[in-house]
Amino acid sequence: MTWSKLQNIIENNQSFLLSSHINPDGDSICSQLALYWYLTSLKKDVVIYNQDPVPDKFHFLHDSDKIINKLPQRAFEVFVIIDASNSERLGWDASGKTASLVVVIDHHRDNSYEGDLNIVEINASATSEILYKFFKECSINYPPYVAEALYAGILTDTGGFQFSNTNNYVLRICAELSEKGANCSEIYREIYSSYSPAGLQLRARIWSTLQFYRDNRISSMEMQESLVDKSGANRGEVEGMSDLALTAADVEVGMFIKYNDSSTHFSLRSKGAVDVGKVAQVIPGGGGHTCAAGCTIDLPVEEAKKKMLELIEKELG
Ligand code: 5GP
Ligand code: MN
Repeated sequence: MTWSKLQNIIENNQSFLLSSHINPDGDSICSQLALYWYLTSLKKDVVIYNQDPVPDKFHFLHDSDKIINKLPQRAFEVFVIIDASNSERLGWDASGKTASLVVVIDHHRDNSYEGDLNIVEINASATSEILYKFFKECSINYPPYVAEALYAGILTDTGGFQFSNTNNYVLRICAELSEKGANCSEIYREIYSSYSPAGLQLRARIWSTLQFYRDNRISSMEMQESLVDKSGANRGEVEGMSDLALTAADVEVGMFIKYNDSSTHFSLRSKGAVDVGKVAQVIPGGGGHTCAAGCTIDLPVEEAKKKMLELIEKELG
């Protein structure tokens, strides 16, 4: 691993801008917070900017209030793209960003290696796992709240230790993070049992759209995008619906669809027989992992669904 290169960059620069993908998930927030802690502990000048806000359920994480959603109008020496395959996934135009160095830290296999330094580990369960390794292998001691963030990042990117990226190494790391102060039951409760009444009611409404296709091997749930605001729920509260679409015994691919009049986003999940990352990559801008991926088709929902079903069917065989 190229830790010395990363360490050199950190040593020789003072200002850092960290950014991750649109609709940030647990791993993107947590890996940003872990790196933020390390850089600020070295008295660096660090800004975390994401296009979209931190979902409420991650507000319990230390320093999550430091993440801003207004693009800072200033220059940085180092720009870190973290837990995102490329700058397009950031959702904002990073092309004019004046940073002399770009560092990429990620685990998506469709990573575009846009950095001057690319730390891309496609076998890592989460970007938080990569940061755990960085701290471990460089003997960097961190406080309990950083152990909490690393644990929460791995917890969420393994779908609560259910995806095939959960292995004995990952569980050993998590045991160590628990020893270092991550309170597993509390973190679970904060992330998975913290819905507002409006959020749970919206989830119930989404459940009612459940449909099965192709001998019950594919399932879908769907929601008009504007429903989140109308219902009084927050965006993060509809996350994870695609995991639920996968819970039927015969289903190989589950999808959660969010649509407006002209475009349709698919959040895809697979039990392993179908590589949904490959399916998503057929659509421009789409991508992800074998068992969890996503893409947006610029068509109204019914046409987009038809196209997606064809793509999945091809892989189902
Ligand atoms: P989720 O379904 O939880 O939003 O995302 C699952 C995985 O697919 C994550 O790794 C996420 O970054 C990726 N993903 C979701 N939507 C898209 C998309 O539209 N484009 C790309 N390239 N990746 C996506
Ligand atoms: Mn991730």
